[in-house]
Amino acid sequence: MRSLNFDNRFVRELPGDTDRINMPRQVYDALWSTVRPTPVANPHLLIHSPEVATLLGLSDADIAHPNFAQIFGGNQLMEGMQPYAACYGGHQFGGWAGQLGDGRAMSLGETINSAGERWELQLKGAGSTPYSRRADGRAVLRSSVREFLCSEAMHHLGLPTTRALSLVATGDGVVRDMFYDGNAQVEPGAIVCRVAPSFTRFGNFELPASRGDIGLLEQLVDFTIARDYPELHGDMQEKRGQWFLEICRRTAVMIAHWMRVGFVHGVMNTDNMSILGLTIDYGPYGWLEDYDPLWTPNTTDAQGKRYSYGQQPYIGHWNLTRLRDALAPVISDASVLQAGSQVYADTYSETFGTMLAAKFGIQELSDDDAPWINRAFELLHISEVDMTLFFRNLADIDPQNPTLAPLYPAFYRDDLWQKHASEWEQWLQQYSDRLRQDNLPVAQRQQRMNAVNPRFVLRNYLAQQAIDRATDGDNGMLWELLDVLRRPYAEQPTNALFAEKRPEWARHKAGCSMLSCSS
Ligand code: AMP
Ligand code: MG
Ligand code: MG
Repeated sequence: MRSLNFDNRFVRELPGDTDRINMPRQVYDALWSTVRPTPVANPHLLIHSPEVATLLGLSDADIAHPNFAQIFGGNQLMEGMQPYAACYGGHQFGGWAGQLGDGRAMSLGETINSAGERWELQLKGAGSTPYSRRADGRAVLRSSVREFLCSEAMHHLGLPTTRALSLVATGDGVVRDMFYDGNAQVEPGAIVCRVAPSFTRFGNFELPASRGDIGLLEQLVDFTIARDYPELHGDMQEKRGQWFLEICRRTAVMIAHWMRVGFVHGVMNTDNMSILGLTIDYGPYGWLEDYDPLWTPNTTDAQGKRYSYGQQPYIGHWNLTRLRDALAPVISDASVLQAGSQVYADTYSETFGTMLAAKFGIQELSDDDAPWINRAFELLHISEVDMTLFFRNLADIDPQNPTLAPLYPAFYRDDLWQKHASEWEQWLQQYSDRLRQDNLPVAQRQQRMNAVNPRFVLRNYLAQQAIDRATDGDNGMLWELLDVLRRPYAEQPTNALFAEKRPEWARHKAGCSMLSCSS
């Protein structure tokens, strides 16, 4: 199998820690540690992303080569790979957690593709690192399937995200206590190779700042600007200021997209916030089914609901404030640090406002629209309506002759449909009036709406069905789902089954709508 073109700047240019490989400990004076993947029993490839393979310059023959599963299962290294684990900290659920680091992720190296793009390859679940603390450094099949499918689905939905190249089953068992209830089970292990220009997180900056290691912090800041933000110009202080504001802007855009498609990240700790504004670390994430701003898939967060759907824009801001505090020692212009909040708020409201207008099929939002839009969300909530189906089917409303019929399939409960029917009728009148005011040609309005309102998202129960089948040795549904999710805005009538709302049996089922961090 051919090698890729590696240019490992992170380990070449930044201070690292190269001894006592894989031994759990506190790491000082270094931004990364040398690691080696721990070999697995019997690696075999379950699925790969053809688009990511192409992006990296891997051919079908490379993917089919027996060495592929060995390399991306952690048993072999390609020439030029220099595995390392990054050293970072983070705020978890609102509190400072100290050193965290890549406990089960390992970067293999940074490749440069034929277009000159830099892509870092990272294995998740390849064994312990200095940052594993008391955990095993492994990942189970269910969480690996979920990360693989969702990161690709998010990309095809047009969201900024890390990507995934491959999903390799390890042939080893991994012990997990899914609900921390003392019922440990052996589950099949798997390894995802994820791919992004960089996996640097807010927490990479927070850790040296928390230790007062300003020299290390400065090195990482200037390295990140040079490698990942080459478009910034000016002197070093100017660049640092623009860089911080650009992170605020990108984070706002990312979260506006999450809100647009009903994605709930589930663990928005600062160690899970990408410095590039990418969606990163797919753990107990989920997709809104019936519209509920307080819904979170994460059972660990069931009480506080800190990371529920509706909280995400606020948490994005809270996390940026932690980053601001970490960067304060190296950015001398305090007004830049102050401006971050405004940049975030303005970008979010502008981006999400434009998205909302498109979701409802109107040209532009004005303040006069707030009452009927707010009312729509209120009604969606109290009458348990599927968010994805509602917006997709809304395009079928004919403003000249409006009826609720197109929206009916989005309702989960007949009793609530009946109970709120007259309120929905009233709303529909307001909405059709508003559409008539714009007077967009029907086809144009529908096209605009269908470009932002997906027909297909990775519904929680679908992911679980694919996992159940993969656990039984059948990876057919993985491929089916990946294929459908490649074209989420297309109608795909032959795949209508994958667009249906959550069946009743999956309502409160573990794996389908309730997930733990234990993966
Ligand atoms: P997360 O909540 O998944 O973002 O993980 C928080 C921290 O725990 C990170 O430092 C992870 O690398 C680490 N971690 C999570 N699961 C494991 C595991 N199975 N083995 C080692 N470290 C882990
Ligand atoms: Mg994480
Ligand atoms: Mg995680």
